[in-house]
Amino acid sequence: MSRSATLGGRLPAAVLVLLLALALVADGSVQWGTDPEDLAAGGLGAGSVAAEGNDTGSGSAGPGTTAAEAAGAEVDRLADAAVEDLLAYWAETFEPAFALPWVPPTGGLHAADGIADVGRKAPPCLARTTEIAGSAYYCESADALVWDRGVLLPVLAEDHGPAGVTVVLAHELGHRVHTRLGVDDAARRTMPERYPVLLSEAMADCYAGTYFRWAVDGGGASGFTTAEVDDALAALVRFRDPIVVGEPPERTHGGALDRVLAFHEGYSQGARRCAALTTQDLAPPPPRQDRPLRNRPLAELSTEDLGTYFADLAIRHGGHGPAPVVRTVAGDPDCGTGQGPVAFCPAEPAVVIGIGADGDLAEVNSRIGDHAAATMVAGRHALAATTRLGLPIDDPTAGRRAVCLVGAWSAAGPAQADRTEAAADDGQGRRSAHVEEQWWGVGDLDEAVLLLLADDQPARDVTGFAGDGSGLQRVLDFAAGRRDGAADCLRR
Ligand SMILES: [Zn+2]
Repeated sequence: MSRSATLGGRLPAAVLVLLLALALVADGSVQWGTDPEDLAAGGLGAGSVAAEGNDTGSGSAGPGTTAAEAAGAEVDRLADAAVEDLLAYWAETFEPAFALPWVPPTGGLHAADGIADVGRKAPPCLARTTEIAGSAYYCESADALVWDRGVLLPVLAEDHGPAGVTVVLAHELGHRVHTRLGVDDAARRTMPERYPVLLSEAMADCYAGTYFRWAVDGGGASGFTTAEVDDALAALVRFRDPIVVGEPPERTHGGALDRVLAFHEGYSQGARRCAALTTQDLAPPPPRQDRPLRNRPLAELSTEDLGTYFADLAIRHGGHGPAPVVRTVAGDPDCGTGQGPVAFCPAEPAVVIGIGADGDLAEVNSRIGDHAAATMVAGRHALAATTRLGLPIDDPTAGRRAVCLVGAWSAAGPAQADRTEAAADDGQGRRSAHVEEQWWGVGDLDEAVLLLLADDQPARDVTGFAGDGSGLQRVLDFAAGRRDGAADCLRR
């Protein structure tokens, strides 16, 4: 298999046929962590697994191995190192946190390859080996950790590095932790209201966060940095719940923001916080999506409309001075150097959009989506509103405040659209097509989070300085704006 393959559609056809366990979401990414209840229902008993023992990988690559074998051995090495570090973390953490002895998974650790292992005994909880493709999971009935070393881990390693591999295994081991603490199949069956699947998934993300905090603080052997925490989060949100039109399916992993926030609960507060999570801590269900999902061409992204929220905001809070004009230039913006492909230029004032600049809106629109592009523009309008309110736009707080305001704008979106919808109603129940262009939904929120994790552009101040904030910090600032509103952002 080509090492450059990703799960988004560049896999050879033979591999695609085998991706039975995958749930492709709207943007072509892949969902792992199959519902543990489904797995348990079709799973093997603990006895048969114990006989199989551990099989983490297929040995080392020696002289004469092919490039694919060498790459496979490297992925096995990454997975082994990750699991060793995770087990060391829980051996150190579990008993002090929960006053219960820690026992490593008794059903073992299983690395399987859905292609190379065809014909071999299936991993725990699977009927056929091919079903492993694209998956990693904790098999509760066998108390075993299982992952796909043939497709999933190589792609994670290539796209997100060691942290991407580790976070998937950390999440799955997180399922082992909450199971050991009583949030297990039996609890989910008998108290489905209290222990929905979404809560188990949030707990697993949370426990993964506790491990990463330990690692960043110097625990274990990984040496992970905060930049690698962003890599881990980028991998994690790749497996968010898909967005569907019509009746929504049961939420399992949550959206991108839900996953980052659950991870952060553990990252900031530790393992006991994860165990204490309840349904009250879960985000409310996203609004039902009844309109077709489509990524607007950039030409339909009305950058003037985008600025209206921020112009109103400045006036509402007693600002003065003109709102910025929006203009485009070929190539990089001709002012506001360092801010990136969209810049706020206070002298005019103007929000200047560089067409064809490196990483410009068209590129972001096609790579992530229209709302990611809109987020880049919104951040510059946020700076414009900030300066009209007499607040600094050239210090370390300016970028964080801008991201917070973008969050407030993002949360205000649907309400704003409602107002426009009422205004655009022609009195006979017809609505203008313009309304739909202003509407955004759950998928758009995911796009904003993906952008914020990967790109500091929205957090740059007027001099182009984004401080040393991580992607995680940007998402947290954005989430604070969504939760608390613009007035709170302006008080920061
Ligand atoms: Zn899971």
